[in-house]
Amino acid sequence: MSRTMTTLHNMTVAELAQALRAKQVSAVEVATSFLARLGGNPHNAFLDIDSEVTLAQAQASDARLAAGTAGRLEGVPVAHKDVFVTRDFVTTAGSKILTGYRSPFDATLVQKLGASASGGAGMVSLGKLNCDEFAMGSANENSAFGKVTNPWDTARVPGGSSGGSAAAVAARLVPAATGTDTGGSIRQPASFCGITGIKPTYGRASRYGMIAYASSLDQGGPMARSAEDCALLLSAMCGPDLDRDSTSLDVPAEDFTASLNGSIEGLRIGIPKEFFGEGLHADVRAAVDSALREFEKLGAKLVPISLPRTELSIPVYYIIAPAEASSNLSRFDGVKFGHRAKDYTDLVDMYKKTRAEGFGNEVKRRIMTGAYVLSHGYYDAYYLQAQKIRRMIADDFQNAFKECDVIAGPVAPSVAWKLGENAGDPVADYLADIFTLPASLAGLPGMSVPAGFGANGMQGSETEIGKPLPVGLQLIGNYFKEAQLLNAAHRLQQATDFHLRQPEGLQ
Ligand code: GLN
Repeated sequence: MSRTMTTLHNMTVAELAQALRAKQVSAVEVATSFLARLGGNPHNAFLDIDSEVTLAQAQASDARLAAGTAGRLEGVPVAHKDVFVTRDFVTTAGSKILTGYRSPFDATLVQKLGASASGGAGMVSLGKLNCDEFAMGSANENSAFGKVTNPWDTARVPGGSSGGSAAAVAARLVPAATGTDTGGSIRQPASFCGITGIKPTYGRASRYGMIAYASSLDQGGPMARSAEDCALLLSAMCGPDLDRDSTSLDVPAEDFTASLNGSIEGLRIGIPKEFFGEGLHADVRAAVDSALREFEKLGAKLVPISLPRTELSIPVYYIIAPAEASSNLSRFDGVKFGHRAKDYTDLVDMYKKTRAEGFGNEVKRRIMTGAYVLSHGYYDAYYLQAQKIRRMIADDFQNAFKECDVIAGPVAPSVAWKLGENAGDPVADYLADIFTLPASLAGLPGMSVPAGFGANGMQGSETEIGKPLPVGLQLIGNYFKEAQLLNAAHRLQQATDFHLRQPEGLQ
């Protein structure tokens, strides 16, 4: 047993589930071992940890393992991005306005991954993960509870908004985590931290209990080290939730592990020329190109395609997402949840002071932009135009999918940037979302797969070489083609070992 104990944190979800089922280790031993790693909260990745809650869940898992009523992932640890509401842990969405908030219920995805007594997969929760406030950001620098650092280089950002999730998985603090992706927040931090993450088709996994940012874009999904682990979690997460989420699709859950190991001989991989233009850093391009060559060796065919409105996805997204956010965030008024200003003269003054104190700068910026683009006189010029172009972006993908099965390119134009590098320049962060936004606007499934390493600071002709920093390859599929994406990623991971590497010095 002791041999296993020292290596538990290096095991994948699949390996841990197997060891638990075979009774080589108990859920309590696994939980205890991971909890020990969380001491001092490395990378500031967690916002709430409660060992009593975790150990109680682990004991319940052990009882189910003993009784033969175990779920598929019984006893395997997981942690949730802090936008998923949880009964047993505090939920803040990274915002001061929700300091100390406890939800009376669990989000559907938390339930589905959790206690198998309620039909879930049986995973044990280690707590809640740091994120950008209300999932608004690309670097996890907008959390009211401090920045998260990148385990590959602690002077760098982990990406965002699911930065805590990505850093925790990369630092082996948890074998898998949930994330949410509105415009790239699963894919981009996965890319920056060298892990695997998938955002399913919009509507495939329930949004119930996921604190809303931009409801027509928000989608939860798993982040883990390998595509196989993501397939295991995603299989538990998907499925209709029609009574509780009005945009949930009536598409049955699927076992995404069943199609892993399928041949990719003849798979047509579309390469959008707009994803390989001027702004793409040379080191990212090199890593992505070499992953594409691996695919060719596995029998896939690269097909040049065009997604002509790629650039427009930035203004379109940064109109639609703030518009929806300005409406969604109106519920945080000091009456129903969380923080309320201490001194105020009347109701309106209370609203104003509560929101002024409770929201951070980026959230305020989005609310103001959103209210502006929705206001009388500007609605047609901005919001309506953006909706029209959003439709065209979705159509561009459907045209592209006539010629290819899967689309591949970089997740982000660069590797993880330095903490504070974009401080005071929010637009620099927005521009870096260029390759993830199109699939979000179209509602398509997308994933990030470790594809190699770029050199720290190397851009174009600059040659400053430092610590290796992960590069993610993005795979985008047509609606409901998650299994195809996961299979392609799994095949790549059988041929490469980037997803197995770990940050230097990690114990
Ligand atoms: N960076 C994007 C934004 O700030 C995407 C965030 C997300 O996907 N939650 O809105």
